Amino acid sequence: MHKQQNILIIGAGLCGSLLALRLGQRGYNVTVYEMRPDLRKTDISAGRSINLAFSDRGNKAMKLVGIEDKVKSLCIPMNGRMLHDREGNTFLSNYSGRDHEYINSISRGELNGLLLTEAEKHDNVTIYFNKKCKSVDFEKTTALFQDYETKDEFIEDADTIIATDGAGSALRKSYYLGKKFLFSFSQDYLTHGYKELSILPTETGDYKTYKNALHIWPRGDFMVIALPNLDGSFTVTLFLSYDEGEYNFNNLTTPERVTEFFQKEFPDASELMPNLVEDFFENPTAPLGTVKCSPWHYKGNTLLMGDSAHAIVPFYGQGMNASFEDVVEFDAVLDKHDGDWETIFSEYEKTRKKDTDAIADLAIDNFHEMKDHVGQALFQEKRKIEMALEKEFPNDYASKYSLVTFNEHIGYREAMLRGRAQDKAILNMLADGIISTATPIKTILDKVKSETEAILEDDRIAGLH
Ligand SMILES: Cc1cc2nc3c(=O)[nH]c(=O)nc-3n(C[C@H](O)[C@H](O)[C@H](O)COP(=O)(O)OP(=O)(O)OC[C@H]3O[C@@H](n4cnc5c(N)ncnc54)[C@H](O)[C@@H]3O)c2cc1C
Repeated sequence: MHKQQNILIIGAGLCGSLLALRLGQRGYNVTVYEMRPDLRKTDISAGRSINLAFSDRGNKAMKLVGIEDKVKSLCIPMNGRMLHDREGNTFLSNYSGRDHEYINSISRGELNGLLLTEAEKHDNVTIYFNKKCKSVDFEKTTALFQDYETKDEFIEDADTIIATDGAGSALRKSYYLGKKFLFSFSQDYLTHGYKELSILPTETGDYKTYKNALHIWPRGDFMVIALPNLDGSFTVTLFLSYDEGEYNFNNLTTPERVTEFFQKEFPDASELMPNLVEDFFENPTAPLGTVKCSPWHYKGNTLLMGDSAHAIVPFYGQGMNASFEDVVEFDAVLDKHDGDWETIFSEYEKTRKKDTDAIADLAIDNFHEMKDHVGQALFQEKRKIEMALEKEFPNDYASKYSLVTFNEHIGYREAMLRGRAQDKAILNMLADGIISTATPIKTILDKVKSETEAILEDDRIAGLH
């Protein structure tokens, strides 16, 4: 046992605070440095993904650290997608045919605050705020920090350093700039960015639209979504191209044009948002990208975890859940090789990376599904069939969405391969008239199963997996 080891964590966001809590529970000496002020004391969320979809993979991590019930009290269940068309008609499409399968809306700040508080309950965990990591010397296992207030710089030493400092990671930058080993890195931006807006509660504090759903206004090339908050408001996010199409972020420059865009494309939403123009010009527009890199670790000295290793676009609602699952997977490897950091880091990366690569690709797929496909008749027919299959045969069928979101016992990669094959099978058979919503449901199940297996077998033969 090597319990007295000193672990330095860079970044006390969602992943870093959970990791600090878990390593604290395991008895390590944990020191965390966070560049921002303590979010339990200062409101620093303005305009940046205020709430998030939290689901079973994230919850598995909360169970591991024993705070599932506390987290549950912060959650608002969302049973499905509430689709809004241009005429203001709505259509609820459940996430699953099994009643116990739903996702939740949760406040980033509340959840992060809870994790920090739980971590700090351990005497062996210390968290410092307002200290920004500038670079990491991964050969010496030291990190250079700067104090936000005094501007003083100082170096911290540790037995091992884990960076959970998000998509713009300082450790990842040091790997890249250091050129001391073969470090592969890619960053792919979408042509679309996002901006957060809001639907405020009614005067009596009620929700202005249906509470228990993730609302989507799909418009083909762009979309708006809304997730509920505990105070009766909704956080609304507009996903839009920077420079393509009639309306884009670069040309929405006046209150009149923003109002015109919303009234034309999202009339029912704009009625709920008298504060639209104010929000639009106050809140930042931010880019969306996918980061992939390897290796995640340098010997047993340093490791990237969470978004710093694998930032993804938000369309599967899985970035945070994946980062939490990282901690669960890491914890399992710690059980096997406690103290041998190099083996721990390389085994963790070996088992984990294939799954985070898969969710990165699935998240891009879902970008197109949410802004476009959900509004199409063939897609809606497919969802109807999947709902019926899940209802009638809860143990025999799980859609791709269910496999990714509610089947935390399988990895993202397995969920992706099976889910994509199933999607292909159903869509092909619907398009070819082999099945329809009128076909007996047991016949559909048998056909979908055999067609899915045939597709998986073809893919195996073609060497696709
Ligand atoms: C618009 C949007 C919507 C999203 N929606 C969802 C969703 O619905 N569901 C979901 O599961 N995921 C969602 N995500 C993804 C989710 O936000 C991330 O995957 C998650 O925050 C990753 O956690 P992390 O701790 O790795 O990184 P972060 O949460 O980014 O935390 C990094 C921390 O490190 C600190 N830091 C950064 N640099 C330094 C430095 N140099 N020195 C010290 N500290 C530093 C930061 O201040 C921060 O506290 C969304 C993301 C976006 C952008």
